[in-house]
Amino acid sequence: MSGNAESTAYRSALEVIGAVEPRVATAIRAELADQRESLKLIASENYASPATLLAMGNWFSDKYAEGTVGRRFYAGCQNVDTVEALAAEHARELFGAPYAYVQPHSGIDANLVAFWAVLADRVEAPALKRAQARHVNDLTEADWFALRRELGDQRMLGMSLDAGGHLTHGFRPNISGKMFDQRSYGTDPETGLIDYDRVAEAAREFKPLILVGGYSAYPRKVNFRILREIADSVGATFMVDMAHFAGLVAGKVFTGDFDPVPHAHIVTSTTHKSLRGPRGGLVLCGPELAAQVDRGCPMVLGGPLPQVMAAKAVALAEARRPDFVDYAGRIVANAQALADGLQRRGAKLVTGGTDNHLALIDVTGYGLTGRQAEQALLDSGIVTNRNAIPQDPNGAWYTSGIRVGTPALTTRGFGTAELDATAELIHTVLSRTAPGTNADGTPSKAKYVLDPGVADRVGKQASDLLTGFPLYPAIDLG
Ligand code: PLP
Repeated sequence: MSGNAESTAYRSALEVIGAVEPRVATAIRAELADQRESLKLIASENYASPATLLAMGNWFSDKYAEGTVGRRFYAGCQNVDTVEALAAEHARELFGAPYAYVQPHSGIDANLVAFWAVLADRVEAPALKRAQARHVNDLTEADWFALRRELGDQRMLGMSLDAGGHLTHGFRPNISGKMFDQRSYGTDPETGLIDYDRVAEAAREFKPLILVGGYSAYPRKVNFRILREIADSVGATFMVDMAHFAGLVAGKVFTGDFDPVPHAHIVTSTTHKSLRGPRGGLVLCGPELAAQVDRGCPMVLGGPLPQVMAAKAVALAEARRPDFVDYAGRIVANAQALADGLQRRGAKLVTGGTDNHLALIDVTGYGLTGRQAEQALLDSGIVTNRNAIPQDPNGAWYTSGIRVGTPALTTRGFGTAELDATAELIHTVLSRTAPGTNADGTPSKAKYVLDPGVADRVGKQASDLLTGFPLYPAIDLG
């Protein structure tokens, strides 16, 4: 029985929730238990602090606050103004950015705000100006046709999905691939690294309006100074989506050429990955784009989520503390220990290692698809996600890769020795898994056979590893 403030807060909250819908209270308890018991290597997830989580569970959720600080379309927003201004101030200070917009509900929303801001800034389009004055849901088919005609074939050049880019960087099925005439740059087939000369060549040929830097599954630093020079050479706006590595920028691991903020015209991010905040997004820019970015609502956003902006203010304040620099450094040291441990045991990694928070295992070396590997690891208590690798022979659904990342385990307190032990567990599972067959005897890309006893043994070892590093140690739900 614990008498600390965090335990008291959560016990009381669960009692109140449970009195209305006990199954929700039970699911919330079960989620904590599951998270405590899993060896989480999902590169895009983390564990936000109790202060951040608690800042979201309150009456700020009841407020509408369309508009911007001090200029709302609703009365009574003075307290929302306080938290939005605080979150923006912390973001500006943390990243050294002239302007911060903290309303986007997610990373995708942040990217949409950035795209429309750049279009409005760069393209003479009366229909766009008209559309910006309305909510996106209120636009008619005729508005969209007029917009499409006026915007013509504006071009975007971003990193391809299989090289590690994100859906919103111009992938065809995503709205970004429909809004823009899109082309992508990949990585060198030999090294797996971005070939800046090839990017420059593609930019010269294609002449994009927007050059996008940033990634979801690229295990290396990116030189944003060079990408900015490429953008400038063709008159493109340089946008960086730092959703994955914002924590490494905040924690001063990525500085100089590798810090996107001084080099990009506009930077977007999520707040919940390596940055360790609530689920949400933000946009950073200079004064030239600030007015357009502020039109995120009504252009692509509705009312902001004031409770999440409050939580962003808390998390960004945490990220400004000196211990966050230590945290960010440990994320990378841990990722390198994991990558080295895997390679020493025979695993093949895309680019041969990592210098950020993630590594990409090419599981064809084990004779598996990403899907088979992901499921076999899950059976053994190790949570990862399958991911395409460059020129993936198995496509985006089955894939040939497993992405592993260290922000969450680093938050739990894991160090390099535990990441090396984790590498041993991963290698054991993958080397003891064989591809399965379909009922008609043909090879399956999903079925697999794990040697008997491996899942239980590795699951127990994973659980023993976690015991020394309790998640939310101060929280005792009784
Ligand atoms: N941008 C990048 C680079 C991402 O990796 C992701 C999420 O995976 C996003 C944007 C989208 O973030 P969200 O899921 O918050 O919309």
